[in-house]
Amino acid sequence: MKNKQYVIGLDIGTTSAKVVLFNYLGNAISEHEIEYPLSHPSPGWVEQNPDEIERAAVKAIHTVVQQSQIETEEIAAVGISAAMHSLICLDKNNNPLSPSITWADCRSVEQTEQLQQGKGIEIYLKTGTPIHPMSPLSKLIWMKENHYEPYLKAKKFVSIKEYLLLKWFGICGADYGIASASGLLNMHTLDWDEEALELAGISREQLFQPVPPTETYQELRGEIAQQMGIRNDLPFVIGSSDGPLANLGIGAISDGDIAITIGTSGAIRQMVSTPQTDHHQETFCYAFTNDMYVIGGPTNNGGIVLRWLKETLGELEMVKALEDNQDPYELLTALAKKVKPGSEGLLFLPFLNGERAPHWNANAKGSYIGLTQSHKKEHLLRAGLEGVIFNIYQIGETLERLSGTSNRLLASGGFARSPLWLQILADIFGKEVYVPESHQSSAWGAAWTALYAVGEVDSFEEIKNFIPMRNSFIPNEKNHEIYKRLYTAYKELYPSLKSHFETLSKLQKN
Ligand code: ADP
Repeated sequence: MKNKQYVIGLDIGTTSAKVVLFNYLGNAISEHEIEYPLSHPSPGWVEQNPDEIERAAVKAIHTVVQQSQIETEEIAAVGISAAMHSLICLDKNNNPLSPSITWADCRSVEQTEQLQQGKGIEIYLKTGTPIHPMSPLSKLIWMKENHYEPYLKAKKFVSIKEYLLLKWFGICGADYGIASASGLLNMHTLDWDEEALELAGISREQLFQPVPPTETYQELRGEIAQQMGIRNDLPFVIGSSDGPLANLGIGAISDGDIAITIGTSGAIRQMVSTPQTDHHQETFCYAFTNDMYVIGGPTNNGGIVLRWLKETLGELEMVKALEDNQDPYELLTALAKKVKPGSEGLLFLPFLNGERAPHWNANAKGSYIGLTQSHKKEHLLRAGLEGVIFNIYQIGETLERLSGTSNRLLASGGFARSPLWLQILADIFGKEVYVPESHQSSAWGAAWTALYAVGEVDSFEEIKNFIPMRNSFIPNEKNHEIYKRLYTAYKELYPSLKSHFETLSKLQKN
């Protein structure tokens, strides 16, 4: 530990900019979050105003610095994390011609299906990005085929992070993490892939140079420094996307360490030293550095399942929570806890919003299987919590196939507020679950990357000693056995229901 005392992590999420000032021990000293809206101008389109995001980031940095009352001389650097897959068309002066089109935008469903039937698998094996409407590659093909005006006029195509850097420094690169989630970067060479560029109908000159996460920018524009309330030679370090940085920030960087994040959606991720893809295209692989890659799978159906259960079955608990100033989720999970592991033979497929990993099927549906008259509300709740974890477990099986067995699970996201849900995780996996104190793992990962880039710490690995942890959850062997038996049945349900999901999807659309 060297010259300064503090470091800032800026996390540009899908719905908010979060800024955290950390001390070097990983304790959050001051934090602030500013939300911004998503707009839906057509069905399936999900866009944002990039300038609104930029203003939120500037203001959040300003607020954090102000409320901490420290001298900005004591801050070593700012590290940046951002959500993946955003795409903005820029003119020659780097002004936006289009909104920021987010990962959740699915206008390119048709183009994705065509790509799947053509070169999809080859492209995936090179880029590590599953062929999906979330990917900028699919969006660019949509733009090309639909003669989207901003695309036709664009001088550059950037992600939201590059847009911020351009506004703040006038220059930028595309960090490996964000670049490899574009579907255009060959993760084996860490260079733009000619074949993907050709499919997208763009040239490499229209993209910024891929750079490692330690790339540093130091001449912040005067007026921006003033708005942020910081010195204009404070180094900004490009960082990566929120996935790899969450792994770093939670300490899941060695063989056998698995990070599980369940917020509204969820993901299970692991760091590996060489690119790994699977022929079923169930998992992603994104570069962090030239010898650190993150493999994993995203699920659409994380905490949103419990939110749905709260809204459909939890009216009583919501009223009680309001009256007694309690958390409705705590009341609902307390009810679920009354039921034995396995929910007395009731299974739940959690695909309320279609599913990405492991099935990559937008038409997958949620289902309760095994209902009897003796099942009550609490069984439905517990089976819901278990179903979310069975799905994560199934993705985890693919990760194990790719990179060997895991021994530690590190959990984060809203679900980690529930001891019951964490115990279910430990019992289904049969592995110990560790939980960090801070929810801001991506911000801490970004901040640590910044400390490494400016020479304040000596390695990425060292972060493991600076992650304040809460208690851990030990698997119960008896419960693990019950879940193993149930999982065998769970795994067979999706393939046997798949054709019915397609039929129901058509009916639901009508
Ligand atoms: P986001 O991904 O939007 O940032 P969060 O990480 O805050 O979301 O997670 C929100 C989800 O966390 C909720 O939908 C809910 O399922 C879950 N959650 C929040 N509080 C609790 C709790 N006390 N017990 C169990 N689950 C909770």
